[in-house]
Amino acid sequence: MITVEHLTKCYGDFTAVDALSFEIEEGHVYGFLGPNGAGKSTTMNIMTGCLSATAGHIKIDGFDIFEEAAKAKRLIGYLPEQPPLYMNESPVEYLKFVGEAKGFRGAELTEQIQEVIRQTRIEEVKNKRISDLSKGYRQRVGIAQALLGRPKVIILDEPTVGLDPIQIIEIRDLIKELGKKHTVIFSSHILSEVQTICDQILIISKGKLIAFDEPKHLEKSLLSPGEITITADASPEEVEKILDSLEHMTEFKIQESEREYTVFQVKTDQKDVYDTARRIFFLFAEQKKALLEMTLKKANLEDIFLELTENGSGQTETQNGGEDLPDIAENESCQSDTKESGVDQL
Ligand code: ADP
Ligand code: MG
Repeated sequence: MITVEHLTKCYGDFTAVDALSFEIEEGHVYGFLGPNGAGKSTTMNIMTGCLSATAGHIKIDGFDIFEEAAKAKRLIGYLPEQPPLYMNESPVEYLKFVGEAKGFRGAELTEQIQEVIRQTRIEEVKNKRISDLSKGYRQRVGIAQALLGRPKVIILDEPTVGLDPIQIIEIRDLIKELGKKHTVIFSSHILSEVQTICDQILIISKGKLIAFDEPKHLEKSLLSPGEITITADASPEEVEKILDSLEHMTEFKIQESEREYTVFQVKTDQKDVYDTARRIFFLFAEQKKALLEMTLKKANLEDIFLELTENGSGQTETQNGGEDLPDIAENESCQSDTKESGVDQL
């Protein structure tokens, strides 16, 4: 559906997106996960034809986003980080304007507007001024305009940012709903959000793709070294002697020792922490020493995310000062691009 090849974007001598390559298949919900400044918005702006690239290629259903922009853009609905909503208009007026810009007229336009209003559940506010709507409703209006034209792919940039907890849940449910009919790509810097909604996660840090997999596989393939806490019916000296023959042990620490037992921790560089636990069990059993308790601490996706993106946001702090204004400018030019290509299609 979408092929991104060696996508690179430089702002002066700063590389915001660094040789990114990935493929998006039809019918899934993809999450772009990464700390602020990772390059998510830049990538999305380029994928949607709103921003030029320094190098690389993007194809949307076979159409080159740079060379066949109008055809490629028609397949995508985009909600930018700062959606260009017209505050004095009502959702219906705004959707009419965007629908016309996308090339729809008359009964078809009316039907499309009714459909997206239904899909995003904004019936009750459809005639109010957008400036009077809550942030949650405004975000729905933004999603509604992205849905006009029934695009195959919906791209949403941080759709839940700035919303209250209830609105966040509602938008997440809406994204899941959209995922049944569209290929959805959305960005977030919140791991749990991506984990619950997406069936594929792309972790981006400092403009690079550092992981791309299903949530459950990510946990498995990137599992950090495991840690096991054990209580054994043995003295610290006996414990140490027995563990002498344990391979792949990276750390060993006695936590507590009483006359009856010793509590100790073992860290291993083996991905399968269960296998290490099993080997420890048998080493102690061979010496006829009982294990009284064993607790396995497995790394979860949160740990993996933190580890992979470590220092990811720090480096970009100084760059972030200039982030907002240029972004708005890009989005505005995006909007007028869409209008133009919409008119061209007439
Ligand atoms: P994210 O969406 O993941 O937070 P962005 O794609 O917005 O990240 O930004 C990636 C990096 O590029 C950041 O360091 C940001 O400051 C920088 N950047 C974004 N837009 C511009 C711009 N127009 N000019 C200069 N630097 C920019
Ligand atoms: Mg962003």
